[in-house]
Amino acid sequence: MAVIIAVLVLLNSYPLLVSQDLVFRSKETSMSGSVKMIESALAGLEKLTEDNVRQALSGVEENGVSRILVTDTAGRVLYDTRETESARGRYVVFTEVAQALQGNDAFYCGYDSQAFLSRAASPVVFRNQIIGAVCAYEYDTQQAELLRSFQTNLMRISAVIALLVVGLSVLLSHAFTARITNLLQAIRKVREGAYSHRAEVRGGDEIAQIAGEFNSLTDRLQTTEDARRRFVSDASHELKTPLAGIRLLTDSILQTEDIDPRMTREFVGDIGQEADRLSRITEDLLRLTRLDSGAVEEAVAVQVAPVLERVRRMLGMVARDKGVSLSFEASEDAVVLATEDDVHQILYNLIENGIKYSAASGFVHTNVSVDNDWVILQVEDNGVGIADKDLPHVFERFYRVDKNRSRAVGGTGLGLSIVRDTVLRRGGTIEVGHRQSGVGTVFTVRLPRAQGGETA
Ligand code: ADP
Repeated sequence: MAVIIAVLVLLNSYPLLVSQDLVFRSKETSMSGSVKMIESALAGLEKLTEDNVRQALSGVEENGVSRILVTDTAGRVLYDTRETESARGRYVVFTEVAQALQGNDAFYCGYDSQAFLSRAASPVVFRNQIIGAVCAYEYDTQQAELLRSFQTNLMRISAVIALLVVGLSVLLSHAFTARITNLLQAIRKVREGAYSHRAEVRGGDEIAQIAGEFNSLTDRLQTTEDARRRFVSDASHELKTPLAGIRLLTDSILQTEDIDPRMTREFVGDIGQEADRLSRITEDLLRLTRLDSGAVEEAVAVQVAPVLERVRRMLGMVARDKGVSLSFEASEDAVVLATEDDVHQILYNLIENGIKYSAASGFVHTNVSVDNDWVILQVEDNGVGIADKDLPHVFERFYRVDKNRSRAVGGTGLGLSIVRDTVLRRGGTIEVGHRQSGVGTVFTVRLPRAQGGETA
């Protein structure tokens, strides 16, 4: 706004000043010329009198300048081109005439918004003696009128420009604030919990980009919020089931009269199993909460083979009981950047799943190899396999392909989520697929390989 006002003020003053100056200069040239012409017509006269001046100037053509005065050395008018109200015989009081009588050429021009008033005077000299003065006088209203209409036009143009600028500014700022208000409303609604609300995205400018970014942020918030709600409801459900089982079993013991000790032992054994399940679920939940909190233990170089050996010792008995054979192959170069606990968790969960979902006389084969900067852990079984439609979901929390089978084998539906989160935390990847030959499942984990350094 300030810039526009400055430009308009300049537009209204500068051209006028320049035009005024041009008129002053042209007046000076034309009037000085006229004065010089009269002066040269009077050259040769020894003394100026009314008669000899009139005679000398009788041959001089009308030069267009309004009025010419010739005075003697006292400033008394001897000759005046104006017939009516002639100043002949009177004394001239113009400063320019006084200056001319002192031997100097003088010029004055002024503008008073009605007319250009200009005067030029020169001395008349005979043999180095000042014998009088010539004065040209003009009162020009025509040029002043032209300048005035120029000024009026400039002011009109400025007024139109100012109106346009103000109108446009109001419109633009209105549109701008409307869009900001829209965005603010969207932010407030989302802050109050309406995660499905989206800001309106119009155009491709910065505000539209902010609105787009805000919407994608809200998308993520909604996804996270949905996942959180699902998780809380699934977790409550998972915890409720064994608790309800325990309650039912205790009620049965309490309400059955003359209950025989064998049956009581059976019921108490079942209660113990339900308690085990509860403790497995809470342990897994705690582990996931720790992973979610982002508190990551510092990664160190961990050699995989010894950890695998430990898992083999722990699961060997379980596999034998079920008639599943375990086989292992591990490269000594396989050293990953993680913690021992992470590697143990990953291998234990995957191999335990392999055993759980294999039939008797099945096998679970684990292979640990090195591929440039990566260590690859592959766990393969020839168990029940996973259908194509279930493959993308098996890493989701509480997802089970077959609820009853999972429960029967003591699953919590959280094992693969823990594995996936642990792998991602360490900058690795995990994939699941079918075995290439025959039935069964293959899990492939890639973890960053530790380069040199001490192993844990
Ligand atoms: P759970 O505790 O139920 O085993 P997981 O998160 O470990 O939970 O696995 C999720 C689901 O994926 C399981 O319920 C099971 O249906 C399926 N699954 C996991 N590993 C295997 C496997 N090796 N073979 C067949 N199905 C599997």
